[in-house]
Amino acid sequence: MIKIAVNGAAGRMGRQLLSAIGEREGVVLSAAADAPGSASVGLDASVLSGGERQDVLISDSTQVLIDSSDVIIDFTAPAVSLALLDAIKGSGKRVVIGTTGFTAAQLETLHEHAAHTPIVFAPNYSVGVTVTLALLEQAAKAFADDYDVEIIEAHHRHKVDAPSGTAVKMGEVLADALGRNLEECAIYGRQGITGERDRKTIGFETIRAGDIIGEHTVLFAGNGERIEITHRATDRMTFARGAVRAASWLASRPAGVYDMNHVLGLAH
Ligand code: NAD
Repeated sequence: MIKIAVNGAAGRMGRQLLSAIGEREGVVLSAAADAPGSASVGLDASVLSGGERQDVLISDSTQVLIDSSDVIIDFTAPAVSLALLDAIKGSGKRVVIGTTGFTAAQLETLHEHAAHTPIVFAPNYSVGVTVTLALLEQAAKAFADDYDVEIIEAHHRHKVDAPSGTAVKMGEVLADALGRNLEECAIYGRQGITGERDRKTIGFETIRAGDIIGEHTVLFAGNGERIEITHRATDRMTFARGAVRAASWLASRPAGVYDMNHVLGLAH
């Protein structure tokens, strides 16, 4: 049995992770934590997951997570995920990170940790998005510079970072396939006298509204035709199940940073 702990257990994703661990063969929930002062601390995990009693009490201690698990799944906030990586150093434990919104400097720090810690880091743990990324790469190579590319994403009103980690990842995949540098070609929203569209840009449009779980459309528009590739998440369990699958896969891997392509055997 692979022992999995959840950091950020009281969050929207944390609660789903508690359920997803209960669902999967070969893994067991060994610990769960949320922020010090959170109303969830001291509750049984089943109160958060709404499932059967798991005999795991929500703690506010990272050390408890480290001591009692093989792999920790963390869907929290960038500073919290980095503090977890610091605490884990030298323990031999592994981490699946779902948090998004890291700055470039924070990402660099995360990658430095991969020298000694096995990490899966993906902006989206759904199998559907992983397949969508592969389709985007193929489409962009065929359309080359003849088609305009725009990424439109929508999420619930509580999301704190924009564009979404998944939209940024889509932008990176598209820019790579088109031989462009995303930092140089990305346009984040438009307003006022923008001038004509530069063919080599990649546009990002962000919608924040209601309880939308996560929707991403990549629009390729040429002369006389338009292609839209869309992924819609309808249930957060899709991310949670993917993250638990990643944790199970990571349990036997050496130090390094991996993504869902590795977990699903699609990496080339
Ligand atoms: P949320 O705000 O509902 O949950 C975050 C949880 O982390 C909260 O319960 C909070 O109390 C807890 N937390 C804060 N500080 C902590 C600390 N020091 N120690 C332990 N826990 C702490 O947010 P959410 O909607 O669950 O999303 C969390 C993150 O996951 C976001 O960055 C979001 O973008 C990302 N996300 C990723 C995917 C994916 O597939 N990779 C999918 C959905 C969400």
